[in-house]
Amino acid sequence: MAMQDVYRQLLDVMKKRGGGYSGMDIPEFYALVEELFTPGEAEVNNAMPRGPFAAKDLAGQMGRDEAEIEPILESMANKGVCMAVTMKGAQFYQSARFMPGILEFQFMPGKTTDRDKKIARLIHDYEKAFDSKISPRATAFPTTRVITVDKTVEAGNQVHTYDQVQTFIDKYEPIAVTACYCRHAASLRDEDIHGMPLDVCMQFGMGAQFAIERLGGRKLTKQEARDVLDRSEDAGLIHMSVNTSDDIGFICNCDRWHCVAVKNALSKPKPGLFFNSGFEPSFDAEACIACETCIDRCPPEALTMGDDDVPKVNLDLCFGCAVCATGCTEEAITMVNKPGFAAPPKNGKELVAAIKAGAAG
Ligand code: SF4
Ligand code: SF4
Repeated sequence: MAMQDVYRQLLDVMKKRGGGYSGMDIPEFYALVEELFTPGEAEVNNAMPRGPFAAKDLAGQMGRDEAEIEPILESMANKGVCMAVTMKGAQFYQSARFMPGILEFQFMPGKTTDRDKKIARLIHDYEKAFDSKISPRATAFPTTRVITVDKTVEAGNQVHTYDQVQTFIDKYEPIAVTACYCRHAASLRDEDIHGMPLDVCMQFGMGAQFAIERLGGRKLTKQEARDVLDRSEDAGLIHMSVNTSDDIGFICNCDRWHCVAVKNALSKPKPGLFFNSGFEPSFDAEACIACETCIDRCPPEALTMGDDDVPKVNLDLCFGCAVCATGCTEEAITMVNKPGFAAPPKNGKELVAAIKAGAAG
């Protein structure tokens, strides 16, 4: 197959896989994929089935030898352009979307080679060109949500989120940490990351196994996982995960300057209504010393000082992230349940149904 044809076919394949930045027929797309995939890898990518597969099955489907296909798949998994997991001692591979997927995988190892810098620039150019050519995405249903992991959350009828995240940490094995895709890519483009930590992107279960085996991820003990959350809170980062309540594949620790999900929320007129934890801050006027630390820390700038020298919150902007509460030395902020907040979908199936309903509505 001619080189141009294989990348044109790759465009159709990536579009069908869906997700963020799934594919657009623009020069920036081809500049990126020609760097990410060799023509041979693109051909293998284009032939991948939907679910997990073994090298010999794909080789059979392509009418090629397993001995020829297997090293290509290995190279692709090690470059983060497909996924690979070991199950019961056997190696399986799986196709990946651009986002979440291939675009993040490029930066999770935290490497700083010339090729990493080139890919950071190519991805940035592609995302910018892509965004400029589509109308702002309609607010359908958030695929991610803020998690308030702060101990100042008021115990109520709802599951105490601090305990819930502890449950996830206890439940999943392995847990891994990698570099934050958004901040590491920004630092490769010589942008300011405002002193925020890089090694705080956490994966759980199968995703963690892939990160450890292929993306330079570090396996964490349960205590180390809790330490990552504490370190992120101290820095003023927002805990974020997929918008489901029962399972978790990752926890990102996001900032306001570079995180794609936060920047997307902040581009909306009322970000707090789209992107929320289900909690809001409540201020203890007696304890507050009007130091304004919470105002400075608040990622969406939802806080202003009130006439009574106690901060007041604009709920149209507030994410319910508790970054204000964790920075208050006087413990004057408690996170309380937000009235009328709908519980997140339980699992991936319910989330897809909610996204479809939101898009149709
Ligand atoms: S950080 Fe605490 S003490 Fe300082 S202004 Fe905010 S609520 Fe008041
Ligand atoms: S006021 Fe700001 S820092 Fe506090 S919960 Fe809301 S968004 Fe987060």
